[in-house]
Amino acid sequence: MIAITGTPRSLFEMEFVAGMFACETCGDWRPVDWRTGGTHADWLVHAACPRCASERAYGFRCEIDLIDVEVADLELGGPEPSQILEPFELVREIDRLVPTIASAPELLDRDAWETNHLVVDRVRTALAELEKFLVGDAIPAESHRSAAAHIDRAMRAERYQRAWIRDERAHWEANGSSPPTARSHRSARSTPRRSPLTASGSNRTARAVAGSSW
Ligand SMILES: [Zn+2]
Repeated sequence: MIAITGTPRSLFEMEFVAGMFACETCGDWRPVDWRTGGTHADWLVHAACPRCASERAYGFRCEIDLIDVEVADLELGGPEPSQILEPFELVREIDRLVPTIASAPELLDRDAWETNHLVVDRVRTALAELEKFLVGDAIPAESHRSAAAHIDRAMRAERYQRAWIRDERAHWEANGSSPPTARSHRSARSTPRRSPLTASGSNRTARAVAGSSW
């Protein structure tokens, strides 16, 4: 299990963070059918790699019960910035995903369109979360923790400014609109899957029992 530093705001944020990692065994980076659960302050996102079947698991610490935390569509938490992700990591995720997005999604078949749509949603989510770091028209230097982040900010300062984030959000919002054949899927948003053993909502006793089976 990889332990993640920082407090998650929601199960969605946990799954988003887990999805930023490739499989540690084989490097596969396809979307994964994550399961989430928690025991007291310990929370886990886990899944079997679809390529090599290795168990992948990411552990989080959070004192509050995340099971019933709801967030706005295409966001990972409330208006406060992430305590896990720094702005650079969101920009890096956008950089990773954008080249994989179809330039003409209306030509895709239904399954490929759905997959592409999820990637667009993930980019839009990253942009929404990036925007939360803005103070005025720019993300302040103190929001950047790592050396790589400071370097990226120095080399691509525009990506940490309101104008770029606003324009990108508008672009991907337009791109995320549905082709006529898939309109009924427009509002689909995956809900974090809880382990069946943890599906009893905020019952901490049930989760404590489930935790022993991980
Ligand atoms: Zn793998």
